[in-house]
Amino acid sequence: MKIKLPFSTLCFWVLLVLFFATTQIMLGNYFGPRETGISIILFILLYRWKKWIGYTFLGVTFSCALLYGFVGLTYGHLDKNAVDALLFTNHEEAWEYASSVPVSVLAWYGALIVFSLGIIGYLRRHPFFLQKTGPGTVMACLALLLALSSSTYLKNLSRGIPSHWWDLKSTEIHFTHSVYSAVRSSSQGQSKYSIFNRHADWQASSEEGINTYVLILGESARRDFFGAYGAPWTNTPWLSQENGILFQNYLSASAGTAPSLSRQLYLRSEEADFNPAYNLITLAKSAGFHTVWISAQGERGGADSPISVVAKMADKYTFIADNLNPLNKVIKKTDEDLLEPFQEALAHPGKKLIVLHLLGSHPQACRRTDDRYTEFFRSEELSCYIESLRNTDRLAQSVTDALKQEEKLHGRQWRLLFTADHGLDFTTDQNGWCLKHMDKRQGSYEVPMFITGSDYHDRQTVEAFRSGIDFLPFAASWMKITSDKLPDNDCQWLQDSVCRNQDYVFRYSGEKVRFHDLPKFDLNTFIQENP
Ligand SMILES: [Zn+2]
Repeated sequence: MKIKLPFSTLCFWVLLVLFFATTQIMLGNYFGPRETGISIILFILLYRWKKWIGYTFLGVTFSCALLYGFVGLTYGHLDKNAVDALLFTNHEEAWEYASSVPVSVLAWYGALIVFSLGIIGYLRRHPFFLQKTGPGTVMACLALLLALSSSTYLKNLSRGIPSHWWDLKSTEIHFTHSVYSAVRSSSQGQSKYSIFNRHADWQASSEEGINTYVLILGESARRDFFGAYGAPWTNTPWLSQENGILFQNYLSASAGTAPSLSRQLYLRSEEADFNPAYNLITLAKSAGFHTVWISAQGERGGADSPISVVAKMADKYTFIADNLNPLNKVIKKTDEDLLEPFQEALAHPGKKLIVLHLLGSHPQACRRTDDRYTEFFRSEELSCYIESLRNTDRLAQSVTDALKQEEKLHGRQWRLLFTADHGLDFTTDQNGWCLKHMDKRQGSYEVPMFITGSDYHDRQTVEAFRSGIDFLPFAASWMKITSDKLPDNDCQWLQDSVCRNQDYVFRYSGEKVRFHDLPKFDLNTFIQENP
């Protein structure tokens, strides 16, 4: 039997796929074939049932994408920050935000309108094209819809993991749930500032001398697994040998990427309203730096959003693993791929800050290292973890070599700061020992901190505690930046002197706790308990 599919019908189905995939991306989700399939089946069933309901479904999806697209494509899926921005922003801020939106956003809008017109055109010419399908097909569609949308839900249910209606895999359900929970947790206009706000009045200035500052933000790096911090393996030759200041007791602000970096990169004060425009990038720009952000992490949605808000205020930003680029699904990017855009950024002659945000040692570590490791330690995952830190150290070495080369060629002095967003904690899964995100014990907050540069000629250590909650004044001191807006802690951040309030971290709940009140469980204890 030969199925004859007229060309116009084929075009219609292609347009339908493109339409739903595009709306999904504009709502701040990544393209998912399953979610697109669900939307298409839903449309078929509704249109066959009552034409006007099918049209309404298309219309509502189209309108949501149109209204939210410019936020969804730049910021990510709907959350409380996005709701605050959409509902409580003033015109000036909204305009400033809109004018910073890249041209590619317009291309998505254009594409969506073209796809919609194509679909409407076909439906007007063939209004009854679905009416010939029998009840058998309808039942098959219903069964497929159920299977596609509820498999995760049922899997969780069978494993005893709590399941919710919003676990059903469908863009429509996700969006409804996002709207519901975002509006519920929105500050209802209480906060004076939104993510649209880009105006910071730092009035900062900086000392001359150093041309290039590089901040390497590692990921999920437990300090006691670094050879340089006493681990029984040599996985960090760069960190162990390079001249500079090694901080022995630096703490991350919290134990996860978003809870840590959304505190470390922004100016936060307990009295004043949190204003996202006051962050590391705007501080550096105000002090006359050219700023570049190069990231191997996600660009938008959920945990990535508060970090990309800062990243996107940089003069230039690159997300090498942007999920909107279909090629990136095929070609896996690693931290190594940050080096090429880094070299390009180095070519800028003026004073600059370059941030490299790594994927580092994020679980699972074996996915970071392609299952490769040098020394076996207790489990494959722990062995890969040691290897992932070795890769990070090698990357830092390449960056340092490039900076030294620049200094030799152009006399540009430089400084480099290496740290990580948080640590991890020991646990087990079906494959044995591994390290996961947890916030209960000290190790989750103990991260490396190292400063090197052309003006460091020996190795020093700082024993005094430093908390990531004060990362902004710390980094300002590193960049020799001063501003009245920075909190005055009366602290010599880069010297081995005791400073006030450096013993605090944030639990996931948002509770601020004393680090020394958390239980200690370090690598040595682990080795003793698991010989
Ligand atoms: Zn992280």
